[in-house]
Amino acid sequence: MKVTIIGTGYVGLVTGTCLADFGLQVICVDQDETKISLLNSGGVPIYEPNLAPLIEKNITAGRLTFTTNLEKAVKESKVIFIAVGTPSNDDGSANLTQIEEVARQIAAYMNEYKVIVNKSTVPIGTATKIKEIIDKYQSEYVIPVSSSVIPAKAGIHPSSPSPLRGEYTQNFLPLRGGRAKVGVKHPSVIARSEATRQSQPTSKPFDFDIVSNPEFLREGSAVYDFTHPDKIVIGTESDRALKIMQEIYRPLYLIDTPFVITNPETAELIKYACNAFLATKITFINEIANLCDKVGADVHQIAKAMGLDGRISPKFLHPGPGYGGSCFPKDTEALYRFATTCGYDFKLLKGVISANKRQRELMVEKIKHHLGSDLKGKTIAILGLAFKQNTDDIRQSPSIDIIQLLLKEGAQIRCFDPLAMENSRKVLPTLTYCQDEYETAEHCDALVIATEWNQFRNLDLLKIKKLLKFPILLDLRNLYDPDKVKVLRFIYEGVGRK
Ligand code: NAD
Repeated sequence: MKVTIIGTGYVGLVTGTCLADFGLQVICVDQDETKISLLNSGGVPIYEPNLAPLIEKNITAGRLTFTTNLEKAVKESKVIFIAVGTPSNDDGSANLTQIEEVARQIAAYMNEYKVIVNKSTVPIGTATKIKEIIDKYQSEYVIPVSSSVIPAKAGIHPSSPSPLRGEYTQNFLPLRGGRAKVGVKHPSVIARSEATRQSQPTSKPFDFDIVSNPEFLREGSAVYDFTHPDKIVIGTESDRALKIMQEIYRPLYLIDTPFVITNPETAELIKYACNAFLATKITFINEIANLCDKVGADVHQIAKAMGLDGRISPKFLHPGPGYGGSCFPKDTEALYRFATTCGYDFKLLKGVISANKRQRELMVEKIKHHLGSDLKGKTIAILGLAFKQNTDDIRQSPSIDIIQLLLKEGAQIRCFDPLAMENSRKVLPTLTYCQDEYETAEHCDALVIATEWNQFRNLDLLKIKKLLKFPILLDLRNLYDPDKVKVLRFIYEGVGRK
């Protein structure tokens, strides 16, 4: 079976590569020409453990290709996955512009029955919206004479954004019910279109089904997560589409992966509910840690005891500078906004969002507690820029947020991250980027561990101490045992334990 993945980012590239490894023929499409050229020349635009060799393996096997040609990909594929971004609007709601554009493009290029699978994280009702867009735009586009499709002529639907970014301006004419639309003026175009209609009548609208298939992979272990998921959620009203989805995921049935088969709305809400719950769990233990800081209790002991309770589980009970990344912050905001538009004040989630923002500020307070309230003229060493270990992704990274707050207070920053320095340079070009942990520490007033990279767990602390101006270690990920660090005569503070 041939499938297309539209959007070759973290989710799309991993999904496409893993599906190719399941034996499917996969075309990964992206509008970003640089990304596609890089992939076609053997490069990989993101870091994910084990992703690069898997891409190479499947390209070599002839199962995985990369292109910017969405038209060809849509026409050749029975199943089309959407994995484009759903960033936040200014008010926190999900911005669906990319999804809507892709839906219009699919409509324009459909040439037979398709299953359209949404993997992006979206508000409830988006599957219906995609269906409506495809229904609407299918009726406004004809099968191309040669290789392209033209949108309804400008002026016919002035309020409709161009599905094709205004690139297609000739050759084809939109038809509805076999008639040229009112407003089409150029006679030669009408003549050509009429000829086309007679010789090659359009079969549109083509049948299609929508599936909501949210993705739960974690950056940093995305390939493993995709191939060993806790669950697969399939939301569809169509038995035909369900059978096709089950065929796609057949290798996962063989390893007994649980499948949750439901309607699209429920599938969409499952994804938001999972992310909001995990964000809440992280925030909860952060709140407990902050309380520990006040009373001298040890949050690690508390988290351990809580995790031993089978009803709670030990996962996501690691205190730190607050959740970050491309998903939790935007998805919690989007769910909160969505609930509000439904007339529901989701108070718990509102509290989580605001506590998580405050957590960054509390980390800066911690630093100031040891360095003094005036950070002007102080140089701080920051270890870790990525939002978590094993990724180069700095989107909504707590480290980046904390650095920005420190810069505002006049501090100088020296920093190091094993993978995320290139991305960080793009948003924070003025920092001093160092070769390694030790160069970072040189002549600094304090060392801050901001990301939980494994290589930061076994630093030569005596060497670090000699390099620092003052032996202050602020361990925002609780990587070190406070007693062991204090023996080395460091001033040490973690999150929720001293
Ligand atoms: P991303 O920004 O890394 O990738 C999105 C890609 O879509 C980009 O390469 C962009 O160029 C491409 N794109 C946008 N519009 C396009 C168009 N019209 N045609 C072709 N390509 C187009 O995003 P991501 O992190 O992969 O996330 C994608 C979706 O999956 C989001 O909704 C996100 O919330 C969700 N999600 C992400 C993760 C994660 O860990 N990153 C996990 C689960 C779900």
